[in-house]
Amino acid sequence: MLNNRTKIKELLAGEATNYEATVMGWVRTFRNNQFIALNDGSTNNNLQVLAELGTFDESILKRITTGACIKAVGEIIPSLGKGQRVELKASSIEILGDSDAEKFPLQPKKHSLEFLREIAHLRFRTNTFGSVFRIRHSLAFAVHKFFNEKGFVYMHTPIITASDAEGAGEMFRVTTLPIDGTAPRNDDATINFKEDFFGRSTNLTVSGQLEGELAAMAFSDIYTFGPTFRAENSNTTRHLAEFWMIEPEMAFYDLEDNANLAEEFIQYIIKYAMDNNREDLEFLAQRLAEEEKSLPQDKRSEMGLIEKLEFVLSNKFERLTYTQAIDILKESNHNKKKKFQYEITGWGMDLQSEHERYLVEKHFKKPVILTNYPAAIKSFYMRYDDNCEPGRQTVAAMDILAPGIGEIVGGSQREERLDKLEQKMKDMHIPMEELYWYLDTRRYGACPHAGFGLGFERMVQFVTGMGNIRDVIPFPRYPKSAEF
Ligand code: ATP
Ligand code: MN
Repeated sequence: MLNNRTKIKELLAGEATNYEATVMGWVRTFRNNQFIALNDGSTNNNLQVLAELGTFDESILKRITTGACIKAVGEIIPSLGKGQRVELKASSIEILGDSDAEKFPLQPKKHSLEFLREIAHLRFRTNTFGSVFRIRHSLAFAVHKFFNEKGFVYMHTPIITASDAEGAGEMFRVTTLPIDGTAPRNDDATINFKEDFFGRSTNLTVSGQLEGELAAMAFSDIYTFGPTFRAENSNTTRHLAEFWMIEPEMAFYDLEDNANLAEEFIQYIIKYAMDNNREDLEFLAQRLAEEEKSLPQDKRSEMGLIEKLEFVLSNKFERLTYTQAIDILKESNHNKKKKFQYEITGWGMDLQSEHERYLVEKHFKKPVILTNYPAAIKSFYMRYDDNCEPGRQTVAAMDILAPGIGEIVGGSQREERLDKLEQKMKDMHIPMEELYWYLDTRRYGACPHAGFGLGFERMVQFVTGMGNIRDVIPFPRYPKSAEF
């Protein structure tokens, strides 16, 4: 048996001393041929392993290099060094994996996030990414915990789909047909997908919502949590080509119920991270504060990371309609001084991210739930609001906007009335025959229902304070990049 070691986090947390322990991990630094800073990923805090002078062979000592993997056995003793209560006085050290210090790309110094992205296979071994991915784990765990406690059923919706009807974004095609021009053709020269693997044209999913709705019409409350794919060429700090989305779908929910659930959910998972990842959050808060020191005063965050998260936990999200938002934007000094790149043309316009950010960061200074958007700028499945002003038909849509991130949630009450849904699909040129299964839920026991999609990486960004979405997913996929 090899795995009889104690994790460093556990050792550092303990009060006891003068007992024997085995540790394994990766060397961060080796000072004075005596002091090894050892890390095993359980915490950012390293365990000091003392290799007393004269105890170990030079042949072993010279292999204790940054990046090397070692096993050390010895006594846990009170530490004389500062910053730690205990250390391990080694009686034996075994090199599990050498690391050529000359070639190892991670030097014990500060590296830029851009550089670390190029060595994403090794960046887990830094403090920043150690903290980010432990928090990511906690948030994922909290997602399941939240929904499980509420009696939601976790539904695995398909990753390969044939429906291209959702219109959420550009899709990646899935095919086994040859791409060298020899794929079978129809008489009109288009590709004959009947000959393809699935006998039809297929894509990677952009959202599990439509299938989620089917399940909600049986289990009442379901959620998905899986990868989604968008072939959109957006090189922003908030878009990935492959990202994880959480999509709850609830029968017997209206828009207000939906917003209540989303708010409770977001606060719950943030609180879970605050309760379970304090050390990592404090590390990232410090990192962010350092990083912002180089920015001009007006570009710095008003609150520190922890303060911001506490603020979100203790304040209600601001709720307002799209129509109210347009009025605020129109009346703003920012608009009057023509500081928006995209002009506020009035009711009916789609909001650009600069407008959303103005509302969240400048006007309300807290998360905002925007509701009841014009039907024309939203998806076909969103429910028509009743009693709209003439010429101002809205739908029961909601977007949740977060400071520093922009849109973090998109959701709606769904159109459950068959006649209205069919009319809208016709108007928006959504293929109804292909989506017969979706329409069946409206034919057989339809009910009011609602749901939303939360982009998991944007949530991780919000909680960790990381500025670029590419730094909160282990191996980011974005235009011209699918390394590792
Ligand atoms: P945006 O306007 O920011 O592109 P969207 O309107 O395309 O977002 P939805 O289709 O409503 O977003 O998707 C639901 C959620 O998924 C969004 O609120 C966001 O959190 C997340 N999301 C959408 N596209 C991406 C992407 N390319 N990368 C990461 N997360 C995304
Ligand atoms: Mn988008």
